[in-house]
Amino acid sequence: MRKKIVAGNWKMNGSNELINTLLPQLAEVAETLSAEVLVCPPAPYLVSAKAHAGSSVLIGAQNCHDQPSGAYTGEISVGMLQELSVGYVLIGHSERRALFGETDAQVAAKVVAAVQADLIAVLCVGETLEERESGRTLDVVLSQVAAVTKVLSVTNWSNLVIAYEPVWAIGTGKTATSEQAQAVHAAIRAALAEQSADAAAQMPILYGGSVKADNASELFAQPDIDGALVGGASLDAKEFISICQQAG
Ligand code: 13P
Repeated sequence: MRKKIVAGNWKMNGSNELINTLLPQLAEVAETLSAEVLVCPPAPYLVSAKAHAGSSVLIGAQNCHDQPSGAYTGEISVGMLQELSVGYVLIGHSERRALFGETDAQVAAKVVAAVQADLIAVLCVGETLEERESGRTLDVVLSQVAAVTKVLSVTNWSNLVIAYEPVWAIGTGKTATSEQAQAVHAAIRAALAEQSADAAAQMPILYGGSVKADNASELFAQPDIDGALVGGASLDAKEFISICQQAG
């Protein structure tokens, strides 16, 4: 049985106050759950987030660079994350792809760098509304996944988590229906199985895009949905705790 994971992506939100108040409450609940709970605050808060999260809440970064060091102003290396004992990193979020021009090749290079540093990479993939309406959802999503799996050997897939986040569902209040999400998750798993049935069966595939306390359980009931990557609702302790509890 695959473990469920509920991850919060704070994006460029949060404050010392949110770290100090939300994380201890979340930690208390996370201790009682079998689902893994992950919070990805902005980089300046990673150290204090670790201090307030205890051992039951995992902390991840929202981005990393593929190079180990150098003249890359504003960037963060995987070695720095490793040094902070930050074990997870989101890679290829649609906002990184759309607003910061990240290509499939850059995303793949970042995943490889993260995995080589023994981090768990949460690879984000998803189609735009236009791509969905023109019937290209699976083409787009599977090629985003393949860009990574073709350069990451199957033996390293245990350090990979995939998050399917349809761009049209992010921050819009429009969640994919559980059937729409399940169909894409199943297609991702089937594509992975062409390389390794075992590794595909073990791969956690999270859904993201307007996940809230009132739609989480329906999504989690789907056989190929192994948890959620939550944006807006992860900034509200009560709402995020409820989503985590629904994952079990
Ligand atoms: P929302 O939950 O705010 O739609 O954001 C989803 C997301 O982008 C998480 O990475």
